[in-house]
Amino acid sequence: MSSETSGNRIERKPFEGEMYDVMGGCARWEIKVHDHGLVALCDVMPRMAPVGKSADFAIVQAARVSYGEGTKQVNEDRGLIRYLARHRHTTPFEMVEFKFHHVMPIFIARQWIRHRTANVNEYSARYSIVRDRFYRPDLENVRKQSKTNRQGGEEPIDESTAKEFLAYLEKVEAHYADYQSLMDKGVSRELARIGLPVNVYTEWYWKIDLHNLMHFLSLRMDAHAQQEIRDYATAMFELVRPIVPIAAEAFEDYHTKALHLTRLEIEAIRAGKPLDTTNKREAAEWEEKKKKLGM
Ligand SMILES: Cc1cc2nc3c(=O)[nH]c(=O)nc-3n(C[C@H](O)[C@H](O)[C@H](O)COP(=O)(O)OP(=O)(O)OC[C@H]3O[C@@H](n4cnc5c(N)ncnc54)[C@H](O)[C@@H]3O)c2cc1C
Repeated sequence: MSSETSGNRIERKPFEGEMYDVMGGCARWEIKVHDHGLVALCDVMPRMAPVGKSADFAIVQAARVSYGEGTKQVNEDRGLIRYLARHRHTTPFEMVEFKFHHVMPIFIARQWIRHRTANVNEYSARYSIVRDRFYRPDLENVRKQSKTNRQGGEEPIDESTAKEFLAYLEKVEAHYADYQSLMDKGVSRELARIGLPVNVYTEWYWKIDLHNLMHFLSLRMDAHAQQEIRDYATAMFELVRPIVPIAAEAFEDYHTKALHLTRLEIEAIRAGKPLDTTNKREAAEWEEKKKKLGM
């Protein structure tokens, strides 16, 4: 039922106090990633914030429904946000949302799409022609297979093998000409595309709330994530940091730059003894943590 037919009257209340646009009146903020990639922040909720505050205010506003009005001083807002972040009281962080435009290779999009808590609308290669854009790492970023992590690459491989790898990509990308000529002969776009390599670029609009974005970033900015998706995640964090500086700082302090200790690790520290495990990977992880702790 529309408000016209229901007879309900809509009361339109103006903002209290002076407000400003958290994106400074811009349509987008962009960061280029690699040769053809892009992370663009297109919109934020709340878009308007009280002068003197950041979009962090929406987190505090929601949290105060649970904790009562209290004081409205900015420094106390900071204390409240940091408390919420430490204690994983996450729903107030869901009151802030971001809409991004991403341009990335399909192999990155496949990892990215595993994160189910975003709203996505992707370029259709059934409807439109895939553009002639391919990701190629720089020569010095052609990485060797890691010996310790089966899923990862580590230091750069020798230059001659790196060049051979790039020549292999060039050969695969040359199939783009076949893709075009087969469509010219009448093959449907939805089938012609299936021979394209996974380093071809796709793009989408991606909307997510701050809580789920932080979850995404904690996994994809981490050293265990593939370098290429980390480059995108880092760019996204750079874009949101000025919008929610207090939450971003708390996220680093309590999550990405913090360290989680297991029961066995706490016992090893207390007893001043090696970790009580026969699991090699767990022992290696403990060695990494000890380095971070300066032990
Ligand atoms: C370094 C790395 C390596 C990986 N390797 C592999 C791999 O080899 N193979 C592979 O298949 N995947 C792999 N993944 C993907 C990984 O297993 C997760 O699918 C991905 O990181 C998304 O995590 P998520 O489910 O926590 O995130 P999201 O989908 O964003 O979900 C956020 C949170 O919401 C909750 N949630 C969302 N949907 C559900 C649901 N249906 N039921 C219950 N809770 C839900 C969960 O608490 C979840 O943590 C890898 C990820 C990383 C970071």
